[in-house]
Amino acid sequence: MIEKTVAELSRSLSRREISSVELTKAYLERINRYNGSLNAFITVCEESALTQAAQADTARDNGQTSPLLGIPLAHKDIFCSSGVKTTCGSKILHNFTAPYDATVVSRFKEAGAVMLGKTNMDEFAMGSSNETSYFGPVRNPWDTDRVPGGSSGGSAAAVAADLCAVATGTDTGGSIRQPASFCGLTGLKPSYGRISRWGMIAFASSLDQAGPICKSAEDAALMLNTMAGIDTKDSTSADVPVEDYTAELNNSLEGLRIGIPRQHFAEGLSTGVEQAIQEALNVYRELGAKIIEIDLPNNHLSVSAYYVVAPAEASANLSRFDGVRYGYRCDSPVDLEDMYKRSRSEGFGDEVKRRIMVGTYALSAGFYDAYYRKAQKIRRLIKQDFNSAFQQVDIIIGPTSPHTAFNLGAKTDPIAMYLEDIYTIGVNLAGLPGMSVPVSTVHGLPVGMHLVTNDFAESRLLNVAHQFQQNTDWHRQRATAFTEGH
Ligand code: GLN
Repeated sequence: MIEKTVAELSRSLSRREISSVELTKAYLERINRYNGSLNAFITVCEESALTQAAQADTARDNGQTSPLLGIPLAHKDIFCSSGVKTTCGSKILHNFTAPYDATVVSRFKEAGAVMLGKTNMDEFAMGSSNETSYFGPVRNPWDTDRVPGGSSGGSAAAVAADLCAVATGTDTGGSIRQPASFCGLTGLKPSYGRISRWGMIAFASSLDQAGPICKSAEDAALMLNTMAGIDTKDSTSADVPVEDYTAELNNSLEGLRIGIPRQHFAEGLSTGVEQAIQEALNVYRELGAKIIEIDLPNNHLSVSAYYVVAPAEASANLSRFDGVRYGYRCDSPVDLEDMYKRSRSEGFGDEVKRRIMVGTYALSAGFYDAYYRKAQKIRRLIKQDFNSAFQQVDIIIGPTSPHTAFNLGAKTDPIAMYLEDIYTIGVNLAGLPGMSVPVSTVHGLPVGMHLVTNDFAESRLLNVAHQFQQNTDWHRQRATAFTEGH
């Protein structure tokens, strides 16, 4: 049962084949058994999960139906959750209990979902391997010597090892799509503004977006149905009507124009990944799609532009962690300045400090034009590249990551780590929706295919992903060491 998708579990729950309490107990039991080796959860909410499950069962007995009613899920520990520790993977928030729920969290509560706990993540979502967490690295269920990807690696590992049915993540430069790719899952980063950021701890506010990490595109549609929509508490949430994202899943792909960016099939891409994507494209050819080569000429500038814009925004956002209001405070400070300095230098990890320094420098008088303004201009060019591409094609397909999951400790150079997001970061700079879908395995490790479409066209994205999954079963493959019975 635990290996099923949300859509399947939802059917089993409504047919009374299983209760939410039974299902929740099954996942909690697996968390107890496997979290020691995966480190996917920072906090497990055993008691409140069982209470929520019992409430969901009662609600169902009283005639309530909703696709997520009684579904056990996990939230990335970047979402504030009332009365539950919310750490953002950092020492500076290791003892912080949020006084309110993020909009994402409250929407799932209203839908009757069960929160099993909070998942591990790179500190303040800065990373691509989940090695920057104050709570230690997460391990990839497909091979525990390897990283699950980052920064939503705890969510990805938890879903891949069936420790929960589905999980939330956030994506500033690739943090939903890359871990989904490394763990053989389906991850969706919606358009900027599609989901409220209220109560989601800010990293880079103009890039951050929440989304689901799932076992199928159908599940991603069900999750988006609950997560999407304007929120008066977040002025950047978009006033764009929310569709029923499950409605178009079965549309025909006959005549669909798929763009293949030359720049994504060039140097740096591993041959195994390239082959896997080419084979996936054949599935689309058979479904009647046309494959067209396109150019994203400024893609090579995306990582550089991102590493000015994101740290600049992070340096401003993270100034609120000062030891005064909440979170970690150093022992016996001698004066106010000493308290600021030591609370921050003891509370933040190295990667976070690096970003604060880079960001502060890029924004400082005299350097602003040379770095920040220039990065913003590149951002515009990248958006224009996508705009012209979408004159020619409906969807853009390429690899999510240049390779499969790498070993823990393998990437010590920050620049090498930053290049992990070479195919995904442009999408955040342009505010577009993107998705990763498992399309193969190479040497026993999953490969992700990256799909991108135009602003707020999530229905199309989900349709194209779902049709692939209707015709293949890569999304059904599980990390064998953690399959039921082990
Ligand atoms: N890897 C990128 C970074 O370290 C993106 C992280 C993210 O999407 N949160 O900033």
